[in-house]
Amino acid sequence: MVGQGGKLVGEGDFDALRLAGQRQSLGGSLDVRTLPRAAERLADDGPVPLAWRIVGTSDAVGRPALEVALEGRVPLECQRCLQVFFWPVQQRTLLLLARDEAELARLDDIDEHEVLLAAAPLAVRALVEDELLLTLPYVPRCGDGRCEGAPVDAAPAVARAPTAFAALAGLHPPATKKQKRSN
Ligand SMILES: [Zn+2]
Repeated sequence: MVGQGGKLVGEGDFDALRLAGQRQSLGGSLDVRTLPRAAERLADDGPVPLAWRIVGTSDAVGRPALEVALEGRVPLECQRCLQVFFWPVQQRTLLLLARDEAELARLDDIDEHEVLLAAAPLAVRALVEDELLLTLPYVPRCGDGRCEGAPVDAAPAVARAPTAFAALAGLHPPATKKQKRSN
């Protein structure tokens, strides 16, 4: 990895609670093609650089948290006209850190932030991939203005209902809804 601006750089495991306590940060750039779950959603060939940054911080009431920021553009295939288009990724998410399973359950119940179990070291790549997957549309659509071919009527009706829902969801940042995760 090549560092940027003297930040700590790494793609390995890190102690999230320590990062938060010491207000440190990690950052770098990785190729989305090397993230297995995200890679299967990509169109085209070639590397897909994604800048990432993980900042140790706290929430408004002082609980340890991570801010995860992603920036890049991801080639997807439009499910309507089958053309490749670039989906902009500019994501910033605050993740509360739980020290153990009990705290995870408690924070999950009372808080609207995403909560991350940080009892064991976290893997940078898995964390970045999780956040990226939340930003990608379930059914990619390039946008009506540019969409050619538009075989909408050829698509079975059953396939269109979830498409409309997913397209709506894709217009908004993913809800910071309660979400249990183990890494
Ligand atoms: Zn299209």
